[in-house]
Amino acid sequence: MRTTSPVWVEIDAGAIAHNLDVVRGEVGITTRLCGVVKADAYGHGIPVVLPILTAAGVDTIGITSNQEAEEVRRLGFPGRIIRLRTALRDEIQEGARLDIEEWVGGGDHARVVVAAARSLGRPLRVHLSLNSTGLSRDGMDWDDPQAQPHLRRIAASPELAIVGVCSHFPCEDADDVRAGALAFRNQAGAAERVLGAPRGRFEKHCATSYAALTVPDSRMDMVRIGAALYGDTSAAIPDLLPAMRLVSRIAAINPYPAGSTVGYDRAARIDRSSRLAVIPVGYADGYPRTLGGRGHGLGPGTFAPVIDRLAMNSLVIDVTQVPSAQVGDEVVLYGRQGSAQIRSADIERASGTIAAGSYTAWARLNPRVVVDVPASESVPTG
Ligand SMILES: *Cc1c(COP(=O)(O)O)cnc(C)c1O
Repeated sequence: MRTTSPVWVEIDAGAIAHNLDVVRGEVGITTRLCGVVKADAYGHGIPVVLPILTAAGVDTIGITSNQEAEEVRRLGFPGRIIRLRTALRDEIQEGARLDIEEWVGGGDHARVVVAAARSLGRPLRVHLSLNSTGLSRDGMDWDDPQAQPHLRRIAASPELAIVGVCSHFPCEDADDVRAGALAFRNQAGAAERVLGAPRGRFEKHCATSYAALTVPDSRMDMVRIGAALYGDTSAAIPDLLPAMRLVSRIAAINPYPAGSTVGYDRAARIDRSSRLAVIPVGYADGYPRTLGGRGHGLGPGTFAPVIDRLAMNSLVIDVTQVPSAQVGDEVVLYGRQGSAQIRSADIERASGTIAAGSYTAWARLNPRVVVDVPASESVPTG
């Protein structure tokens, strides 16, 4: 695939397949794996990621929006689709044709799902979220005096076909996850008894990539894996490969004398004569403006600092130390280049914002090119 766009997002399909193998190897084959493709597979593209998941036997997909579920079905996926957030009533009704299992986010939200099911004239398959981990976002809190009445009402609602009981962790910290998983296991068991689980139990799940790869006790019946598929987890698994690059090229190079100021607001100043390269990527393309003066571009084997305050569609890197740099050279702004790489942690440290917020935007705003790099040429994130 080729693009004439001056900036593009490159997805390494081989890295995603490899990462899935690594995760499978860690969690084993008896734990169900829900492949998370929300935000268009974290920007990697549902059409790229879904076939990799299904080829490996993944039968459960996690989404957030109806559009994502629609795309998953359009691609022919016959398995289970779980929504990983609480949905609005209209959304639930509209999504029902896609056979989405809904995330019941508390006792009152259960009423919303019941109302949607009544309008549809059929029960909806749901997962009940508990606040056992203390995320306090969309789970029922066990200490709420209304919790038991809510549970009994949910149990008595024929509109709700309960499939699972779930929770979600607030922190990527092993002790925090361990404690949350234990609390969840106990509360989910107690909830099952009130809800009258068929065969005594529902599917219990709380683990994300970090939890599943760090605390085996958090895995339970199913793990919900997003970040690790894309090689962007803080779990200490060195074999995972980053699967995305943000790439552009040098459009022009100019020498400027010592003392010149660079870019808007004269925010940067060079105190020696310098060769500056302009890259046709700016904040409107999703590159965070907070990386102005802090980010890096990566040519073959070299880091060149982003020195200016970023324009809408261009930025300036200093290539004084890279005499070989020339117009047309590829510049990587995120991901790997040869044996070097710019990681999520680098972006996060420099910008003060979460890297996923940036790379999901790059993928929405720029063309996507899919490649398949042999694993032997890939550099682990570790
Ligand atoms: C995004 C999400 C996941 C996947 O988390 P990762 O850290 O990307 O693996 C799992 N569960 C819920 C509820 C989510 O929103």
